[in-house]
Amino acid sequence: MTVLAKPEVSVVIPVYNEEAGLANLFARLYPALDGLGMPYEIVFVNDGSRDRSVSILAEQYRQRPDVTRVVLFNGNYGQHMAILAGFEQTRGQIVVTLDADLQNPPEEIHKLIAKMREGYDYVGSIRRKRQDSAWRTVASKAMNRLRERITNIHITDQGNMLRAYGRNVIDLVNQCGEVNTFVPALAYKFARRPTEIVVEHEERAAGESKYSLYSLIRLNFDLMTGFSLVPLQFFSMLGMAMSLLSALLVIVLLLRRLFVGSEANGVFTLFAIAFFFMGVILFGIGLVGEYVGRIYQQVRARPRYVVATVLQGMPDDKDDDGSVEKREVAR
Ligand code: UDP
Ligand code: MG
Repeated sequence: MTVLAKPEVSVVIPVYNEEAGLANLFARLYPALDGLGMPYEIVFVNDGSRDRSVSILAEQYRQRPDVTRVVLFNGNYGQHMAILAGFEQTRGQIVVTLDADLQNPPEEIHKLIAKMREGYDYVGSIRRKRQDSAWRTVASKAMNRLRERITNIHITDQGNMLRAYGRNVIDLVNQCGEVNTFVPALAYKFARRPTEIVVEHEERAAGESKYSLYSLIRLNFDLMTGFSLVPLQFFSMLGMAMSLLSALLVIVLLLRRLFVGSEANGVFTLFAIAFFFMGVILFGIGLVGEYVGRIYQQVRARPRYVVATVLQGMPDDKDDDGSVEKREVAR
């Protein structure tokens, strides 16, 4: 197998049912990286797409085997698992992540790299003008603020994957066996000198968002519970305050019963209060469940994802079997 030049920059891109947009992505990504004037590699990770994405990626790999590698999952493990699998394959000193849908313009990559060259080991980015639906923008602003407060992770624009990481950060991330995680936050934990820059943002070029409201909520639970115990602790504080208050209420009602007589008209108020507490309790159980669920997943220690194939090296080389790795690898 021909030994490829060791890349300085590795670009990791998760791909899930992106057949409509991949051609456009290639048309802009490769020239942008060629223009950097330094050796690079692009690692596409196909996250179990059910459309033609795999054959489009394979064709692209055939066109540019010198700089392209493709990791194929055997199923859908989620965007963050795909990025982690990509990280395992990277060799560059600088690793850049971006989305396949062209919401992160490839022409912005050089800005991240210039910033990394100044000695930072984590360059996040803030979208200058967000091109997302109004509710997405509002919801993610609110989540950003909440996360800032409870996790000590300072990421201004969490929903944005256009980021660069140093080799030191990537090596540490590769040692983590986290199951539910949020890559930018995990990497932030290991960064010695993080910074952020402002980048352009575009509308999704083709296809549609892979995130439903439901999966966005799930993702935010991953972020909150994966990096902070505050939700759990906040709840025990709330629980304590609540039980004090309800104890007071019991005393007041008892005294009233003894000295004023029982009150029939207050029944509905009591109902309201009881329902309120039931809600609180349910929420508390749910929150505990969030953590227990994660502990359960972690202790099972199942493979987080399964790589079916990695397309890499020169496909035309017949001299050994190194071009395509055939066995399934579970990580
Ligand atoms: N993605 C993935 N697996 C998934 C969902 C999404 O690999 O289960 C990829 C998707 O192909 C894209 C990136 O993650 O490259 C971001 O997805 P999307 O653009 O749908 O998210 P949004 O921009 O709406 O947050
Ligand atoms: Mg997108």
